[in-house]
Amino acid sequence: MHETIERVSEYYKRVNHWQNRRSIRVLPDQVRLQVTVPSCSHCVTCQRRVREFQEILAQKPDVICQWRTLNDGAYWVFFNRKEDQDPIQLLRDILEVSIT
Ligand SMILES: [Zn+2]
Repeated sequence: MHETIERVSEYYKRVNHWQNRRSIRVLPDQVRLQVTVPSCSHCVTCQRRVREFQEILAQKPDVICQWRTLNDGAYWVFFNRKEDQDPIQLLRDILEVSIT
């Protein structure tokens, strides 16, 4: 997939009551959530965030996702979206989190 930078919007949001805000990147056909904190990805807390989401996703076999380590060093999850779907609401619904 080719990405052009002007087609990516980035937001920093609070997920649940997690201490550090997370980056959310919205592409026309995808939304990407930074699950771990860059440079902190292997701490117990970050690993718990990953595990909790993987457990939720394991209950939703119809949801297509990809996990990737991006060049910020963080572990991200990508979801496909239709262009008319609100990307933040999509993440809330799939991952059962508050995002503010
Ligand atoms: Zn961490």
